[in-house]
Amino acid sequence: MTSSDLGNPFHAGERAAQERAGAGDVAAWAGGFIRDHLPEQHRAFHTSLPFLVISGGDDAGRTWITLIEGPDGFATSPDPRCIQLATQLGTDDPLAMTFAHGTEIGVLGIELASRRRNRFSGHIRPSAAGYAIDIRQTFGNCPQYISERAWRRAETTPGRVIRSTALSADQIAQITAADTMFIGSGHQGRAGAASDGYDASHRGGPAGFVQVVDDTHLRIPDYAGNNFFNTIGNLMLDPSVGLLFIDFETGGLLHLSGRATIDWNPGDDHDARRMIDVRIDQIIQRPAAVSLRWARQDHLTRRLRLDKRVRETADVVSFHFAAADGRPLVPFAAGQHLPIELQIPGQKGTSRRSYSLSGSPDDRDRYRISIKREDRGLVSRFLHDHLAEGSLIDAQRPSGDFVIP
Ligand SMILES: Cc1cc2nc3c(=O)[nH]c(=O)nc-3n(C[C@H](O)[C@H](O)[C@H](O)COP(=O)(O)OP(=O)(O)OC[C@H]3O[C@@H](n4cnc5c(N)ncnc54)[C@H](O)[C@@H]3O)c2cc1C
Repeated sequence: MTSSDLGNPFHAGERAAQERAGAGDVAAWAGGFIRDHLPEQHRAFHTSLPFLVISGGDDAGRTWITLIEGPDGFATSPDPRCIQLATQLGTDDPLAMTFAHGTEIGVLGIELASRRRNRFSGHIRPSAAGYAIDIRQTFGNCPQYISERAWRRAETTPGRVIRSTALSADQIAQITAADTMFIGSGHQGRAGAASDGYDASHRGGPAGFVQVVDDTHLRIPDYAGNNFFNTIGNLMLDPSVGLLFIDFETGGLLHLSGRATIDWNPGDDHDARRMIDVRIDQIIQRPAAVSLRWARQDHLTRRLRLDKRVRETADVVSFHFAAADGRPLVPFAAGQHLPIELQIPGQKGTSRRSYSLSGSPDDRDRYRISIKREDRGLVSRFLHDHLAEGSLIDAQRPSGDFVIP
């Protein structure tokens, strides 16, 4: 079945958010990315991961988002519409009770080291081995704004759970230092519609991108994304929201549950299109809750020097980059893109965008990207107007699965 068989793959809140953001008729182009099953490569992806991020509601109707882990191979996919998990949530997990009855969930599979991610929604129920998830709707995703981190397992003894209704100084410090966060939201509308249910999404930015206004109020910037508006669309219809901050060094999980409103005119942060204002109702901090630990992989960023600019059309320029240190570049396949990172004067933190590699994969000394200047775009305008030959930029390894076979 394709998205057209499912009717519009977006619910009224998502469509309202798309329209408000001027994203056009998203269903018209996004249909191919939205399915009722997991394609083979996505099944292989989810079942290769050591953890999944899952959102859902508790018995009181609050939305939470959590991380579920298991030993190697804990996730299996007996068919394209089912994922089985041979594991159990800890009893102090805010979603443990509803998982035990069976409930709607949103799932995010994410590999922080390769920047791959993929989302689906469905229904989780207890099974002999742990849980079974019946899949409802699946999405393809692009890899913007993910900090690279490699994982390992560690002996872990979960610490004492701290529950509260306002953030402590330590919790505020953790949020202020975070460059990664997960957000869960949901919507129950037309009975049985594919677009109903929960969504689990990743949000990332420079450390401190989540602003702590006070001990019960956070502001989360919403950057240009895939234009699906799953999170914003859900929150427009149901403000209940769950947030998850992972302590990557200790395996601690900080779960927050609250209510969100959308600020469509944030003003003070050019990179952010919108702000999600979250009023926190409940906090559950679970020290050393999981056995996974992650380390940043900043050394994977390469410094590139702009060797040549070539004007292709009135608003498209090709930029030819070479490695600043003269060492060979990481090869790429046709169809992959180059994630670049820039410090733009007047911008807080790093601005990140991805550009398709438009040169030949056989040229091992150059990366070529061809960029259309967006009149009101931050990065494309900066590159066109200010990046002179000889300038340096940072780039991650070429990335992307949609390669020409
Ligand atoms: C995998 C991948 C490959 C890509 N490949 C290419 C490529 O080969 N070439 C290419 O040119 N792009 C490519 N892109 C898109 C690119 O990453 C950027 O999104 C694009 O250059 C716009 O970035 P920006 O910072 O200039 O615009 P942003 O600042 O991110 O703005 C996005 C859009 O919003 C509009 N906008 C911004 N501010 C306002 C405002 N205040 N009011 C109204 N509208 C506003 C801008 O005009 C722009 O159209 C690719 C993206 C991905 C994910």
